[in-house]
Amino acid sequence: MTAMTTPRSATTQTTCPYCGVGCGVSISQTGGTVAPVSGDTHHPANFGKLCVKGSALHETLSADERLLYPSIGGRQTSWDNALNLISDKITQVLNTHGPEAIAIYAAGQILTEDYYVANKLMKGFIGSGNLDTNSRLCMASAVASYKRSLGSDTVPGCYEDLEQADLLVLVGSNAAWAHPILYQRMTAAKKSNPDLKVVVIDPRKTATCDLADIHLAIRPGSDAYLFNALLAYTAHAGGLDTRFIEAHTEGFDDTIEQALAEFTDIEQAAQQLDVEPQLLNTFFSWFVENPKTVTLYSQGINQSATGTDKGNTIINLHLATGRIGTPGASPFSITGQPNAMGGREVGGLANQLAAHMDFSPSDRDRIRRFWKAPNLISKPGLKAVDMFDAIKRGEIKFIWIMSTNPLVSMPDADDVKAALANCELVVVSDCMANTDTTAAADVLLPACGWSEKDGTVTNSERRISRQRSFLTPSGEAKPDWWALTQVAQRLGFQNEFQYQHPSDVFDEHARLTAFENNDGRDLDLSGLVGMTRQEYDELVPVQWPVNKRYPKGRKRFFGDGRFYTPNGRAKFIRVKSELPAPRIEGSLIMNTGRVRDHWHTMTRTALSSRLAQHIREPYASIHPFDAERANIKDDQLIRVFNPRGEILVRAVITEEQRQGEIFVPMHWTSRYASAGRMGSLIGKQRDPVSGQPELKFTGVDVEPEAIQWQGILLSRQDPGAPPCRYWAYGPAGESHGFELAGDTSADELLDWIKHAIIPKPHDQWIRVGDPSRSHVRLLLIRHQRLELVLMLHPEKVTYTRQWLIDQFSQGQLSESDRMSLAAGHPGGDYDNPGNIICSCYTVGDKAIRAAIEEGCSSVEALGERLKCGTNCGSCIPELKELIRDAVLA
Ligand code: SF4
Repeated sequence: MTAMTTPRSATTQTTCPYCGVGCGVSISQTGGTVAPVSGDTHHPANFGKLCVKGSALHETLSADERLLYPSIGGRQTSWDNALNLISDKITQVLNTHGPEAIAIYAAGQILTEDYYVANKLMKGFIGSGNLDTNSRLCMASAVASYKRSLGSDTVPGCYEDLEQADLLVLVGSNAAWAHPILYQRMTAAKKSNPDLKVVVIDPRKTATCDLADIHLAIRPGSDAYLFNALLAYTAHAGGLDTRFIEAHTEGFDDTIEQALAEFTDIEQAAQQLDVEPQLLNTFFSWFVENPKTVTLYSQGINQSATGTDKGNTIINLHLATGRIGTPGASPFSITGQPNAMGGREVGGLANQLAAHMDFSPSDRDRIRRFWKAPNLISKPGLKAVDMFDAIKRGEIKFIWIMSTNPLVSMPDADDVKAALANCELVVVSDCMANTDTTAAADVLLPACGWSEKDGTVTNSERRISRQRSFLTPSGEAKPDWWALTQVAQRLGFQNEFQYQHPSDVFDEHARLTAFENNDGRDLDLSGLVGMTRQEYDELVPVQWPVNKRYPKGRKRFFGDGRFYTPNGRAKFIRVKSELPAPRIEGSLIMNTGRVRDHWHTMTRTALSSRLAQHIREPYASIHPFDAERANIKDDQLIRVFNPRGEILVRAVITEEQRQGEIFVPMHWTSRYASAGRMGSLIGKQRDPVSGQPELKFTGVDVEPEAIQWQGILLSRQDPGAPPCRYWAYGPAGESHGFELAGDTSADELLDWIKHAIIPKPHDQWIRVGDPSRSHVRLLLIRHQRLELVLMLHPEKVTYTRQWLIDQFSQGQLSESDRMSLAAGHPGGDYDNPGNIICSCYTVGDKAIRAAIEEGCSSVEALGERLKCGTNCGSCIPELKELIRDAVLA
């Protein structure tokens, strides 16, 4: 770690900045060093456990890639200059084009306090509703379906429900990789209650299927049809809760009519869904038999052009069976991001106002009075895709992007790039210097990173936790709420934006939730109003609401049948399910998602060498039939393309993928791969209600990429992006690691390396092989240590990568080390671990397979022999898979 920051206290309890599980993290420091993080044993989300990403947090604190100073047009400047320019430009745009020419695009990464100030400034004072966020890409459909049905954006249940259920239905959720600690809680629940049934519904066979009694690999996009069919089946089987329906809901007749019209019998439904009738029948009968059912859903439902409808078919089922807000029974959407929920609470979406209030005359009037807002908006602003389209058309002249990377994550990402190039002023606040989006900024503002931020976040079960700083900010980094407050003051709103500390902001937010609430709104933090700074600092994790009735928070909503609709009844939403067209553009349907050890656009996780080991390159999973048809071999480089763009990724041929579909991870950006941005392929199709883009159903074609050589480059010095057709970058121990492939002579690459590396006296270059035949090994030895190694070959060769990485940590290379390096392989006694499966203890598949062959037939036995799976447990599904493979072989 390059420490540019100063540790401030000995032990800090804070919250993990990655997924929506919201685990508590404990940080200890001795002297100037941050010790490896551990889970906060008192935090109710994780009780001391952390997944592999969380447990590597201390490895991501390097200041190396940080944005340290404000800049204008690429030139370092003072905060004062930058803030003056921003406020002058906002004033000029306001005067010339009006408030709707101004936008903020924020992120589920920023804290509730940051969001609150951004929202208040935009919607109450500048008078623009154009404040949207990358949460639009994550869970906007879940919000829309909750509000349509329950009358409020209220998650009904809590994590304990996952442990108390008799049936868990996981749909569109690879929790094992995307929400690992929740997955581990479910795994533990199944272990202690073998009768607990788990059904995973996902077109892909993911690591989560390891927990499943039944995996339904349904046709992509057919979720609404499935849940309508299940509703009809439940009605036929006498499984409805007619008392609940009559007493607490409306619109049932219309909804059931639609469901009954779509469902004939199990065979017909199974055919439509493309699954085994027997499996479907078992799932349906389990559902009828088990009142304690939780349906856990995530991006597979939300990131869809019909995501709101899909969410409502799930909620319909739970309302029809009265399975909502009681122990072990609820529909339960989980958020991808650490503070997507906090953003929702303060109005961080363009179609919300604040504190779970919207645009009704009474809500508007209440907020105007509370804020003393001179310019309160009267209608929603533009949602993410529409916002960037408006920028491209020249209608929005100013945008401030906070802590997110839309040039990678937005659909049609190249169009977003063109849009920003067309904007008069692009301000980007980020803690990282080199992202695709910082490269497009006119003004850069250094934001505090996770370790420096102070405030609150809310996790997927409505639990508010403190994020506490434990390092002083790097360079001139500042909190986002501070930067926004400074701009507000420069715009003339000194009295309304007087915040000195995040607790001031939180207090105002809590007061607004309580203002004229009278138990009429779900979000009520009246019990947290008036906290001193010390009380705020010592706030323990609590599930909202916190008020007189629930002074210690509330686990569940709606068990009493009281909803936040005008008449207090939940609404059934009639959904006509439409199966996706069998053929769209392209010959394959591209699905997107996450890998186990990376987060979003990798700006933080790619700082950890340990996390970079598991999956080093962007890839596409493809079914053997489709691979053969396209003449694609396993591990080959392939081009995935459509009229919008192309990416270059590694083919992974697997029967876990349905025929006709491929899966591509979302993480790789221009910083980490030559052409891995899957967003460049995605179209702008989106849900008509929520505005959430379709990220799971994109037509593409694939073909092998012709190359002349492939190989790896490891270098102690970062040489920058290699000039070749393909590269993928990641940290590799003490070196920078590149996977490479080229379609021109390898000589060009060798020339570039010689120029990219700053020479030192007595450097010793060793070259073996013939570049003209694409077969070369190049070493740079400096002061007896390995400085650089390049290995190229016409075919993909499985180099003993870990051995090469280890050579960089050697004090001095021995003569036999040099000879081995020149030969391109280690001596005979080297124990090659293979591909890394357990990132915590660097245990590879070769070592694991060998141990299985020698009799380790359980995860526990492997753990005892190799330690794999004994720390965070994130690799356990893969260990089980290797054991199963060995049994079948
Ligand atoms: Fe962080 Fe992992 Fe917990 Fe998610 S599950 S909050 S990534 S430690």
